[in-house]
Amino acid sequence: MEINFRRIRDHSLIEVFTSSTVEEITGMAGDFRVRIKTGPEYVTRNCTACGECAAVCPVETNDPFNYGMTIRKAIALPHELAYPARFHLDDAACKMDSCKKCVDACLYDAIQLDASPKTREIKVKSVILSTGWKSYEPENLEDYSWGKSRDILTNVMMERLGAPNGPTGGKILKPSDQRPAQKIAFVQCAGSRDENHLPYCSAVCCSASLKQALYFTRQDKEHMADIYYIDLRISGRNEDFLRKVEENDQIRLVKGKVSAVGLEEGKPVVEAEDILSGRKIHAAYDLVILATGMVPEIPVSPGLDLDPDGFIIKESLEHGFSAGGCCCEPKDVAATVRESTGMVLNVLQENT
Ligand code: SF4
Ligand code: SF4
Repeated sequence: MEINFRRIRDHSLIEVFTSSTVEEITGMAGDFRVRIKTGPEYVTRNCTACGECAAVCPVETNDPFNYGMTIRKAIALPHELAYPARFHLDDAACKMDSCKKCVDACLYDAIQLDASPKTREIKVKSVILSTGWKSYEPENLEDYSWGKSRDILTNVMMERLGAPNGPTGGKILKPSDQRPAQKIAFVQCAGSRDENHLPYCSAVCCSASLKQALYFTRQDKEHMADIYYIDLRISGRNEDFLRKVEENDQIRLVKGKVSAVGLEEGKPVVEAEDILSGRKIHAAYDLVILATGMVPEIPVSPGLDLDPDGFIIKESLEHGFSAGGCCCEPKDVAATVRESTGMVLNVLQENT
């Protein structure tokens, strides 16, 4: 990401609109008009990311980048690699009616609490839709006790927990008491391939759980991980992960759908049937990781045709539009980058 940010920043023909949404696209191929709403941008380009504002801000709020596992100030750098590297004011948390401490602390005159949204229109020849995905809401998984224990997490939360710049510096600690986790269960297809939730396979969750189990067990020889799966869907180079997992004595692959996650004496407990042995499993864990699936993120719908699962049907797009990435189907980063490169080349060829 860092390399790509640098390329974007240094490129004279690329303009990035952050804090912005596309409100409307009109016109036709070769002559589109796109209305973009930006802001309010409470923190201007003058910001040097010095942090003086956050130091004096009295308001703490959940940090969305760490999925609420940490707190941050109402004005903060969203994350280490934020682009642009500029502080952001969360106006839902900020008490700007009665407080202006950050304005007084900022030596660069970078904060404007009276900022309002701006709308502008740009002309473009083609439009590429690549709006990505969000994680399936675990609240919908009634049998998995979501919200009843801080030690039941989603796979994207686990990714932050294992990150060197995450809430615990990469150590896998239980959010409930900050003690090291020794035994983790991964619950595959938490929502995916289920007619009541997401009927499709989300493509990346099996590989993600294998990766997470590997980095967890590498941290300590005593760490144990059980991965409960219907069937493991691993393809391409990710088969390396599967081979490493199969060779790892600290990881157990259990073929069986988890029927419930409960709580006993404050600890998450997994109920499942091991299909291969016919054995019923009732096991307690320090952490349970729900491998929640991918939901397409399509904030604006400029006359788009969506399939029953909410993904864009590429074939239905009007001339001048193209779409790729996870707003069309679940896919991993490598496949998304390949597809996006192809789309951009097509668009450039069409318009030169
Ligand atoms: S807004 Fe001002 S005080 Fe806050 S980080 Fe930016 S320059 Fe520093
Ligand atoms: S105005 Fe808002 S962001 Fe600034 S210091 Fe006060 S509460 Fe924090």
